[in-house]
Amino acid sequence: MKIAVYGKGGIGKSTTSCNISVALAQRGKKVLQIGCDPKHDSTFTLTGSLIPTIIDTLQAKDYHYEDIWPEDVIYAGFNNVDCVEAGGPPAGAGCGGYVVGETVKLLKELNAFDEYDIILFDVLGDVVCGGFAAPLNYANYCIIVTDNGFDALFAANRIAASIREKSRTHNLKLAGIIGNRTSQRDLIDKYISHVPMPILEIVPLIEDIRISRIQGKTLFEMSKHNVNLRYVCNYYLNIADQIIAQPEGVVPKESQDRDLFNLLSNFYLTGEKNQLELNSL
Ligand code: ADP
Ligand code: MG
Repeated sequence: MKIAVYGKGGIGKSTTSCNISVALAQRGKKVLQIGCDPKHDSTFTLTGSLIPTIIDTLQAKDYHYEDIWPEDVIYAGFNNVDCVEAGGPPAGAGCGGYVVGETVKLLKELNAFDEYDIILFDVLGDVVCGGFAAPLNYANYCIIVTDNGFDALFAANRIAASIREKSRTHNLKLAGIIGNRTSQRDLIDKYISHVPMPILEIVPLIEDIRISRIQGKTLFEMSKHNVNLRYVCNYYLNIADQIIAQPEGVVPKESQDRDLFNLLSNFYLTGEKNQLELNSL
């Protein structure tokens, strides 16, 4: 099973991905997490370090795939979750889609792409272009991380549109969304009443999750020394169990931007001035 985790920048994709990966491993699955963000810190809380990226390694070996060994690019993280960081194209040049393509190509050459029960792609999600959507070419499921705010839901809606588009040619479903860093869900509920999709979990803002990033540990590792954190792990175990059950998922039908503004705002954009402002967006 291959899963792509998408969402607005800084929303908690990597945090959520790492903890889901460990939860899946705890349920006996062999898991690979692939960080597809040029920030290349996706797997930081799994390994406790910034591992070399595929692109750095390819450049160092002059793109001689045959000189690269699995141990050059695949690093074991907590609970034996394997970790890969794709890395980024040079700033202002190149394409994230190319980077993801090269990463999958190399993993296939190393016979490492089909040996896992679950591969999780942790993908940068603000930009919408073909490159941004590249991991959807390899995934059967997508998960969207959002909070209860307009910007993250706006990004989620764009991602929903990409899923709908890709599902025309690929066997791809949206497993559902995860509300993160929020106990409020009124805007999330409004959105899914308009664009139906399952909610896999709502994870509140929890100070120990913020601390986990700084400590370079998942909540599962932290909870080994602090049983009070087990309740946090349960959020991720719940998501993992739903994934393992191969959810039916949906092909979402995204909202039009204008409808989304109307839906998620307290006022209705009926005045001429507001319409003009929107037209210039
Ligand atoms: P992204 O990968 O989407 O850019 P990160 O996973 O790096 O985002 O998360 C950004 C920051 O938010 C990190 O410092 C992380 O610890 C924190 N964070 C994520 N989820 C939560 C949460 N539920 N509660 C508190 N802090 C969180
Ligand atoms: Mg990230």
